[in-house]
Amino acid sequence: MNRESPEQQTRSSLVDRFNRRINYLRISVTDRCDLRCIYCMSEDMEFVPRSQLLTLEELFRVGKSFVEMGVRKIRITGGEPLTRRGVMQLFESLGELDGLDDLTLTTNGTLLHRYAKTLQRAGVTRVNISLDSLQEARFRKITRIGDIRRTLTGIDAALEAGFQRVKINSVILKNRNHDEIPALVAFAEKRGMDISFIEEMPLGETGDHDRAELYYSSQQVLQDLQPHYDLIATTDTTGGPARYYRINDSNTRVGFISPHSHNFCDHCNRVRLTAEGRLLLCLGQEHSMDLRRVVRANPLDDEPLRQAIIDAMKIKPKGHEFDLTAKPVLFRHMNVTGG
Ligand code: SAM
Ligand code: SF4
Repeated sequence: MNRESPEQQTRSSLVDRFNRRINYLRISVTDRCDLRCIYCMSEDMEFVPRSQLLTLEELFRVGKSFVEMGVRKIRITGGEPLTRRGVMQLFESLGELDGLDDLTLTTNGTLLHRYAKTLQRAGVTRVNISLDSLQEARFRKITRIGDIRRTLTGIDAALEAGFQRVKINSVILKNRNHDEIPALVAFAEKRGMDISFIEEMPLGETGDHDRAELYYSSQQVLQDLQPHYDLIATTDTTGGPARYYRINDSNTRVGFISPHSHNFCDHCNRVRLTAEGRLLLCLGQEHSMDLRRVVRANPLDDEPLRQAIIDAMKIKPKGHEFDLTAKPVLFRHMNVTGG
């Protein structure tokens, strides 16, 4: 089952063994970040040497090939994508691609005061900004080093820049920020933004907490909101795994990304490119294809790259197998894939 419209389904020629049509590519442009969120990274991270990263031109070549094969949506993520030097050039060239309907960004917001307008002009349609707490001290604790004022200024800049939609992403952890769920929704609603609540996924050791202990399900988030908001379930989709509710008499939608309590793999329409050029076929599995090798072996010919992408569809797994009680089976942290 695919939730895309019939028109969208016929437009992508990338289909996997389970008849899922791939029309969404997420590109992580860097694994580095100016924050160290406790669910995403450990305190001492080792990052990929810069020499091993795809260049911005190579990232564009891969993005363009995907669009030529029917991908309609590209999300730029990281690490913190806006910390990659020269990244505006990538947004600008992707923004000019015929056939790309949606160019989006996930960011922690710290650099949006500088780049929001340029991004909007380059053709970025929607921006997701991560914000897990409205309290200065708690924000610092969750991000280890962040200053909430920078993210809040970034949110204001995004709202002023005139994107089609700005959304807040909040990872909810029991006893760390779960008491702020209604306040986060009020914050988003006041500014006409959407908000999605995300269940923590067990990617990489972060050395901060036991993930099973801090697990807070989407169902619990919904229950916490019901006394405060009249939430109406919708069939809306933004091409991702979130299930959306609308707040009655408001433009704001509340989404839930629930890898544990509501497995979304049957509808999966996406693949992910790491900053090193590894095409990951599933966020929760290691099946991958090394596109950097193909790109570099064929600097003037995109055909081998397109063939490698088609071949990769054959190894896209059926789904993830996240288990909160086990040690992470995946060594890789979320900053490698960008969520
Ligand atoms: N730095 C940008 C940001 O924070 O928005 C983009 C990259 S970040 C890895 C993308 C999203 O993944 C963020 O919304 C973040 O909260 C979420 N995330 C990171 N680690 C996670 C984890 N272990 N489980 C669930 N979501 C996670
Ligand atoms: Fe950085 Fe985003 Fe990971 Fe936080 S979630 S450490 S902001 S990449």
